[in-house]
Amino acid sequence: MKRLIPVLTGFMILSIINPGEVRTQTVVERYGRIRVAGNRIVDQSGEPVALHGMSLFWSQWIGKYYNESCIAWLRDDWKCTVVRAAMAVTHGGYLTNPDAEMAKVRAVVDACIDLGIYVIVDWHDHSAENHVGEAVRFFRELAREYGHTPNLIYEIYNEPLQVSWSNVIKPYADTVIAAIREIDPDNLIIVGTPTWSQDVDAAALNPVDDANTAYALHFYAATHRQSLRNKAVTAMNRGIALFVSEFGTCESTGSGVLDGAETEKWFQFMDEHKLSWCNWSIADKVETAAALRPGADAAGGWSESDLTESGILVRDAIIARNGALFSSVGGRRLLNEAPAGFRIYPNPFNAETHFAFSLASPQPVRITLYDAAGRKTATVLDARMASGPHRLSLDLHGLPSGTYFYRCVTGDAVQTGRMQLVR
Ligand code: MG
Repeated sequence: MKRLIPVLTGFMILSIINPGEVRTQTVVERYGRIRVAGNRIVDQSGEPVALHGMSLFWSQWIGKYYNESCIAWLRDDWKCTVVRAAMAVTHGGYLTNPDAEMAKVRAVVDACIDLGIYVIVDWHDHSAENHVGEAVRFFRELAREYGHTPNLIYEIYNEPLQVSWSNVIKPYADTVIAAIREIDPDNLIIVGTPTWSQDVDAAALNPVDDANTAYALHFYAATHRQSLRNKAVTAMNRGIALFVSEFGTCESTGSGVLDGAETEKWFQFMDEHKLSWCNWSIADKVETAAALRPGADAAGGWSESDLTESGILVRDAIIARNGALFSSVGGRRLLNEAPAGFRIYPNPFNAETHFAFSLASPQPVRITLYDAAGRKTATVLDARMASGPHRLSLDLHGLPSGTYFYRCVTGDAVQTGRMQLVR
């Protein structure tokens, strides 16, 4: 059945010529609520599962990518099955602007739920034991709003410094986990480990008393090598599950050299042990770890010239691992490749306009509108469509004048472009 979700008053689909039949399955529908089983993370049928995706940058410094259009691009073009929202706590983050930071987190979580991928909400703090009350308040609110969805993964402490696992981090984790579990009994929780989330072997000697908690393992490939992989093996052999919620292709400063050979060793290690990972980071800052070049559009739609060396390397690695999974909802997609015959007319337009495209075979089609800030305005179409020509007529009389972006994703292509509404 066709699925139309006008989310703004005054938005109306006038007609669809030749609509098709079945809605496609999302990644989260495929895997369900993921959980810890022994030293692995498994899906709803008990099979080991590894997620691969991107971490956003500190929310208070580069918050522009915390929007639905960007997350949609990370799913459709990069093939991310998970995105990590790195909510800043100190340095002008949640402690000073809780409502603003919470709003950024909500934008990412809502997008991931709508897009059917997993989302990690990361308490991005290096001294969380000093902010226990605030963390409890934040995670209780998050659990109440989103704990019922299988998409949400809690990361309660990004990177502790060189502090004691048993005397500092574990007591913090016990308190925050208990607060979450009062509301949400079953979603996956990730907790950081000493020395910027490297001493997973220490955590494994005294794990938390929660059946569904995994432990963060972070590495930067030009700094952390075989000795850290050995530590990870020790921890897994002691029975805990690890989650690489953050890693870089470069030095631990986030800059310096990019070590492609060592990054490849880490990829092989993570594949071998079924470890999930998120790369640091979706940012257009001038540093080696940043995936984007300065000025890359907040709404996504990046061409290869918008990506850094690290961004190109990691995007290829994600597509290589997730491409087969996404083949059930669409084939390989190239940067800015247009669906056959896709056009919008008239454009600019006054109130009414039309999307037209032609499909050589039946396939899923999703058309979404976004405002200039990348916020979703409406889902125009999300359905499996029959082969042949299609035309959608839209009446946008309820929307204010301005620039909008459309995104059309079909089984084998994704296209974004501008629409100009002029009154
Ligand atoms: Mg739950």
